[in-house]
Amino acid sequence: MRILVTNDDGILSPGLTALAKALTKIGEVWVVAPDRERTAAGHAVTLHKPLRVQEVGPRRYAVSGTPVDCVNLAVLKLLPAPPDLLVSGINRGVNLGDDVLYSGTVSAAMEGTILGIPSMAVSQEGRDRFHFDAGARYVVQIARLILQDGLPDETLVNLNIPDRPFKSITGVRVTSLSRRRFDNPIIEKVDPRGRTYYWIAGTRVSWSRSKNADHEALAQGAISLTPVHLDTTNHRALARFRKWEMERRPAAAPKPKSKKKS
Ligand code: MN
Repeated sequence: MRILVTNDDGILSPGLTALAKALTKIGEVWVVAPDRERTAAGHAVTLHKPLRVQEVGPRRYAVSGTPVDCVNLAVLKLLPAPPDLLVSGINRGVNLGDDVLYSGTVSAAMEGTILGIPSMAVSQEGRDRFHFDAGARYVVQIARLILQDGLPDETLVNLNIPDRPFKSITGVRVTSLSRRRFDNPIIEKVDPRGRTYYWIAGTRVSWSRSKNADHEALAQGAISLTPVHLDTTNHRALARFRKWEMERRPAAAPKPKSKKKS
């Protein structure tokens, strides 16, 4: 069993170390991760500069690119064959609701899914200290289930672990992505030279979608497991948009001149 581990917090992150260590229980672990923190890199790929890869240990590589770059390099170049499983994390901080759109952690798992590899993103709730080892023990169990049962087409698992020691985690709940509302999302300040600058900040003030939502599981001390689909088409809205369809009959192509027989 070959397992690829990556993240967006960088190769030195203790969450990555805890994850890689735990997964050695079920397979040969390969770590390919950014050489520095790339949190909120989303699904970015590096197109306009070279990528450098540094072998920092056995089956352990630091890459000068984004999490998605790491997955592509790992799967298409560095590993001897595609991995049986990809796990991204364990991220410092949750990736709930629409965080999945910004998160490099989740994007790495999405890229794995695009490449046909069963993939999971793992994020840990916390502030200054993180119970990475508690989460890692559950990750091993979920990883075993993924390997045993497989995943549906174009679907990854987004796991969020509550800020609790192992013994007080109340279980695993299957949830839906929520949506959050931010207060004061952009801070405006003036720099020492009198010029205005902006800082994207914001404190999370509330959640919408509370029925079976991911953030609720964490509030109850449980791990949230959300199946995330790559197809973001709004299938329920297709019918509504049909009336916007347009059809245009292209102008008749000029008839080829018939060759006159002389
Ligand atoms: Mn991160």
